[in-house]
Amino acid sequence: MAPNTENMPTSSSADTSPGPARADNEGMGKNTIDPARTRTDRKEGFYVEAPSRPSLVTATLRRGCCGCPPVRHVRNAPSFQHIPHITIGYRVGFSLRHCLASLFTFHNESINIWSHLLGTMYVSSVLVSFLRLERLHPNVDPVEYKAILTFLLSAVACLSFSTCYHTFGCMSERAFKFLLRMDLVGIALLIWGSYVPGIHYAFVCFPRWQSLYQTLTFLLLLLGLGGAAFTDTHCPRQSLFRTLTFAFLVGFGLVPSLHWCLLVPAHIRSIFLDNLLGMFLAYGVGFFFWSSRFPERLFESKKGAAFSFDLLFSSHQLWHLCIFFAVYTWLEGILEFHHALHDLGCVVLRADGD
Ligand SMILES: [Zn+2]
Repeated sequence: MAPNTENMPTSSSADTSPGPARADNEGMGKNTIDPARTRTDRKEGFYVEAPSRPSLVTATLRRGCCGCPPVRHVRNAPSFQHIPHITIGYRVGFSLRHCLASLFTFHNESINIWSHLLGTMYVSSVLVSFLRLERLHPNVDPVEYKAILTFLLSAVACLSFSTCYHTFGCMSERAFKFLLRMDLVGIALLIWGSYVPGIHYAFVCFPRWQSLYQTLTFLLLLLGLGGAAFTDTHCPRQSLFRTLTFAFLVGFGLVPSLHWCLLVPAHIRSIFLDNLLGMFLAYGVGFFFWSSRFPERLFESKKGAAFSFDLLFSSHQLWHLCIFFAVYTWLEGILEFHHALHDLGCVVLRADGD
């Protein structure tokens, strides 16, 4: 079913309707429909769309804008670009210039790009204020400074790698595979980077546990990087292995979290717990969307449907929003605990008051 890019139709009209192949507009003038052929002609074996007033989005998709070629139906996109259950809005054969211009057009990667581009800008602005020692306690020590810095850098890496993958992945299969690996490396870095300050603060008064968990999570980072770098991005079995690896990386966080809950008194737990649960909830909900392909798998674009999830509210877009929410929640939680620790002192973290 995967069309060969060399044999792709050259029509300048973006095909935005699933179903039988549409009649080419060649010979009828660009983007015009012959009023005499406004029916399904099964004898001749082609389908001609009845004339209807196209929406602004559909019209823009068909003609392209900002100097970009029109987007394509999945039938006219190379197989490496296919997204399950997404049928329209593919950018095919875009150059670097087209990819940059497509930031300002609407296609099936627009929300994926902008959700993480804005996220990169937000976390970068926090990083700049952090480097100026704003929002930090005056007595911040070098170890905790490095721990928070690790998280911020990993978040910038994850969000910016993801932005690049979704923006430039349509240039070629080679670019797609390389940028997908970088996207996965960014996810592994973000998971590890989230552990570093969390474990630092949670076990700051329990140095042996702190060292043990930091070592274990570093080993998990190596596992995640291995899964990202050395698995075939198009092999279903290896993709499943990689998915389970990332799920394990996040799920392992429950071990130190529960351990910490048992170690500290209830009033200290309450400082951190909301943000901790918020982060796990965001990753859990995001993972559900990412792995289930819901909602587009249940509402795949059908001709004449009032709405489809090809361009808006698809599972990957919801996954992106969940990742950003998790980063935001965790960042606020870390900063809250950072100030609480400096205000209250280490002794209050111990349940036995040692
Ligand atoms: Zn993504």
